[in-house]
Amino acid sequence: MPELPEVETTRRGIAPHVVNNAVTKIVIRQYQLRWPIPRAIKTQLPGQTIISVDRRAKYLLLKTDSHCIILHLGMSGSLRILNEMSKPEKHDHVDIVFKNGKVLRFRDPRRFGSLFWTKDDPLSHIRLISLGIEPFDKKFTGDFLFEHSRKKTCNVKFFIMNAKILVGVGNIYASESLFAAGISPLRIAGSISKKRYTQLVNSIISILKRAIKSGGTSLKDFKQSDGQLGYFTQQLNVYGKTNEPCPHCQKDIKQVTLNQRSTFYCASCQT
Ligand SMILES: [Zn+2]
Repeated sequence: MPELPEVETTRRGIAPHVVNNAVTKIVIRQYQLRWPIPRAIKTQLPGQTIISVDRRAKYLLLKTDSHCIILHLGMSGSLRILNEMSKPEKHDHVDIVFKNGKVLRFRDPRRFGSLFWTKDDPLSHIRLISLGIEPFDKKFTGDFLFEHSRKKTCNVKFFIMNAKILVGVGNIYASESLFAAGISPLRIAGSISKKRYTQLVNSIISILKRAIKSGGTSLKDFKQSDGQLGYFTQQLNVYGKTNEPCPHCQKDIKQVTLNQRSTFYCASCQT
């Protein structure tokens, strides 16, 4: 599933090709994504120029002077830049064709992605308005997590994966960040000190940044006609490493199910 670093990598990959380019047409082969694509986009988008590509959580915001495309890649979605229109494959649901000949193609085999079209502020869209803080926001600090976790009786992994508090920490990043900060995923969120939350914030930011940097190496693919974004493959310390030695203490990595998600940690290094 595309996580925040992959979405950010996608944003950086497509932006140079689509910003300041006028759309000549949009081809929609499948309207039924997680929510139906609004039909108005078919007639309203052509003739408009994309002025920016932003990101909020895992949503990409392609703004024109009057509207915004809000795109989510869902479980299996991807965007590619093609140099010219080529024969679409089975799951290629949407093509946005630009005046300079480039095509932005949206593929989504499982169709959990979505494409909204709005003339209102995208940040006030129903899917976005309740989202929590961005991990790269200056206000995302140890103080922030400390204040928001007081009286919370859930475990800390559940707490940092709650998109109403903080966006961008999926299952892999939650396990890896907690390991880097030495915090057990089983700890009660409300019982963790400000100092330890500061360590956790630093871990989350550096792990996400590293992932984006590593994703950046695949950006060259956007220049190829069949450019498929390669998802990042960074060194993982605990995720998926059940019974392998902890890189710090050599004891076995444990796997437990927390909040219905596989969770990996070192019981000796994480307390
Ligand atoms: Zn260890």
